[in-house]
Amino acid sequence: MDNGRRPVTIITGASRGIGAAAALHLARCGHDVVVNYRADAEAAEQVAELAAAEGARAVCVQADVTSEDDVDRLFAATQEQVGPVTGLVNNAGVTAHIADLADTPVDVVRQVVEVNLVGAIICARRAAQVLSTRRGGTGGAVVNVSSAAATLGSPHEYVHYAAAKAGVDALTVGLAKELAGDGIRVNAVAPGLVRTGIHAAAGAADRVDRVAARIPLRRAGEPHEIAPAIAWLLSEEASYVTGATLRVAGGM
Ligand code: NAP
Repeated sequence: MDNGRRPVTIITGASRGIGAAAALHLARCGHDVVVNYRADAEAAEQVAELAAAEGARAVCVQADVTSEDDVDRLFAATQEQVGPVTGLVNNAGVTAHIADLADTPVDVVRQVVEVNLVGAIICARRAAQVLSTRRGGTGGAVVNVSSAAATLGSPHEYVHYAAAKAGVDALTVGLAKELAGDGIRVNAVAPGLVRTGIHAAAGAADRVDRVAARIPLRRAGEPHEIAPAIAWLLSEEASYVTGATLRVAGGM
């Protein structure tokens, strides 16, 4: 993949939070970036402007990761507007609702599994088709954004989300093996509690401060503390790393 060109990396769900921090950090590391978002075009534009100020080519592309057509359009727009894709950060995610499973509506369960797991699989599938050296691509790397929830289970909060993220970990292991001969590395980052809007969007704006005391490092992480792990896994420095999940969770 190292042909002297700038890497071209798609970051899903990059209009805010960890995805936005990853886009900015990758821009600083020399990537051209595609800032994907679902609904908030204005926020995505601001992230792209900041990335461009770091010297990157940066474009915004609206796409719902749960839609195969949207994901195809996201990859096609990247190719047309920026160049051949070399990396994917599978970051888009939602928690949506905080409660015991017995009190969680099935449509919320479906939405959470659909965005966090099915969306990640659809994007990873497209990346495999586009990047594979056996299929004419340049090779590259995928980083899936999992969660410490995948191993903690998240009782009384969102076990269905934890189950979806455990699926993301299995996707990482299996796809890493499947694509090792295609010039594609597949890894994951598993953040713990991170201060983003995801908690308020699930109706629990106070969750960060409530849970922080249970974390060995005694505080929530910040999005900019997750981004370098993502960038490292995408980089040539991680050339012998595939199938790994790097936990960035303050000891949780
Ligand atoms: P966030 O601040 O709520 O941002 C979520 C992003 O995902 C937004 O850009 C949103 O776009 C986008 N998105 C949501 N549904 C989408 C869809 N169907 N298609 C495309 N984009 C979609 O969340 P975050 O905390 O940064 O979370 C990022 C990732 O880290 C998620 O996978 C999450 O599960 C994981 N994570 C977070 C934490 C944490 O404590 N924050 C901990 C562990 C893991 P719009 O704004 O346009 O809707």
